[in-house]
Amino acid sequence: MSDSNQRDVIVVGAGVAGLSAAVALADAGADVTLLERRPYIGGRAYSYDHPALEETIDSQHVVVGCCTNILDLCNQAGMADTIRWYEELTFLEPGGRRSLLRPGSLPAPAHQAVSFLRAPMLSLRDKSAIATGLARFFRGYPADDTESFATWLKRTGQTERAIRHFWEPVVVGALNDTFERCSVKYAGKVFHESFLRSAPAGRLGIPAAPLSEFFSPIADLARRKGVAVKLKAGIESIEQVPGNRWQVQAGGETYTASSVVLATSFKQTESLLMSLSASTGTEAVQNVDFSRFTVAPITTVHLWYDRDVTGLDHAVLLDTRIQWVFAKSRIRRWPAERGSYLELVISASWPELDMGREEILSSSIQELEQFFPAIKQATLIKSGVLKEARATFSVTPGLDRFRPKQATQWPGLYLAGDWTATEWPSTMEGAVRSGRLAAGALMGDANRFMAPELPAQGLMRWLNRQ
Ligand SMILES: Cc1cc2nc3c(=O)[nH]c(=O)nc-3n(C[C@H](O)[C@H](O)[C@H](O)COP(=O)(O)OP(=O)(O)OC[C@H]3O[C@@H](n4cnc5c(N)ncnc54)[C@H](O)[C@@H]3O)c2cc1C
Repeated sequence: MSDSNQRDVIVVGAGVAGLSAAVALADAGADVTLLERRPYIGGRAYSYDHPALEETIDSQHVVVGCCTNILDLCNQAGMADTIRWYEELTFLEPGGRRSLLRPGSLPAPAHQAVSFLRAPMLSLRDKSAIATGLARFFRGYPADDTESFATWLKRTGQTERAIRHFWEPVVVGALNDTFERCSVKYAGKVFHESFLRSAPAGRLGIPAAPLSEFFSPIADLARRKGVAVKLKAGIESIEQVPGNRWQVQAGGETYTASSVVLATSFKQTESLLMSLSASTGTEAVQNVDFSRFTVAPITTVHLWYDRDVTGLDHAVLLDTRIQWVFAKSRIRRWPAERGSYLELVISASWPELDMGREEILSSSIQELEQFFPAIKQATLIKSGVLKEARATFSVTPGLDRFRPKQATQWPGLYLAGDWTATEWPSTMEGAVRSGRLAAGALMGDANRFMAPELPAQGLMRWLNRQ
């Protein structure tokens, strides 16, 4: 029997999770309405026109090759070629000394070994500690998420510089929190999936357009598949109505459907479930302890210069507050006469939340000059600071058992969002997986819409089977 017209579904939230759920459900023949409270799609992966700067601003988002579900969705929407791919990571020390990590001819997991052994940012002792640590993730990463990465670093005898020049830039950059607040499970996942499994799994992909523009083909795809996308359509509550149907009000209209997917942040989901509890007099939130979820901030600094000052598309900066610099003008292939546009990313940026714009700007520029002295000769044309206080949820040790599955105890009610149970940290890939898992649960086959994982290569094919 076809799924056609079996279901009508309301998806709440047109972030990456809601968009992926809507596309999957429409693919399966469901009649889908997607309600988004903001005037744009993309959720936290958004860009906006900054009136004073007269520029479109976003916080740079990246993917890696092992993010198979978001890449599959981008392929479906015909936008895969708007991602610029890089095989190589450049680590810069103050003064400008470079270390490169890139795949060579050795089989995985040793594909980056030659460049790693040559990297001047680490001594032999640091490298040996890192190699011993990485070897623990050859076969996978812990299924249990209760140990913190801070404890693991001590337990595995990591040197101070190995931590500063390797573990910290990668883990804080990927998980956006301090070692105490990251579980080894998810740190190990980053290394296993993207550093060790294969060279293609570790490729870095950077959207070459502002995020709302980048994601708009997915909304277009949803519309082509018949999804009714309603913007400025926030809901305040959900309720059950007779006939096993769900009802919501948005933008002055009432919508009913046999199923609802709440693809909202954990805070919004909690408040919507509370509204359900209030309307039914039951304990709708009983299975989710929302108090366990916490968020971490990201601050980005945007600088426009009259010329190219980096000579690089992107780099990891060591021994500073800035984790990463993206030369967006180079990534977007601006002509030289247009000058350059840099974005500096400060992960886990709690101190910056309390700092003023000018203080963040001047300290960032001072730090940047240590890596790119050409900045001193260049003219800064304009600048901006963007603070995202609730950028990501933190994969704190022990959180897994509180991340809810997409199917709830309420028939017809499903949850999506990067924070639900996906086995991924707070990422666009986690969000797409959550949306596809919710759509699968609704259609009676949880994994129906999931893209296959990238195959392990080299020795990892054998190690992964152990
Ligand atoms: C600064 C920053 C940098 C990041 N960097 C990366 C990166 O490099 N790589 C990466 O993979 N991830 C990155 N992330 C994380 C990534 O953006 C998120 O994991 C992902 O976008 C979450 O998607 P989501 O759909 O689960 O949630 P959200 O994006 O939060 O979407 C929820 C949507 O629901 C809507 N909504 C909420 N309540 C209602 C309501 N009542 N009615 C209707 N609509 C509602 C919201 O407006 C929103 O559009 C970054 C995030 C930030 C902020």
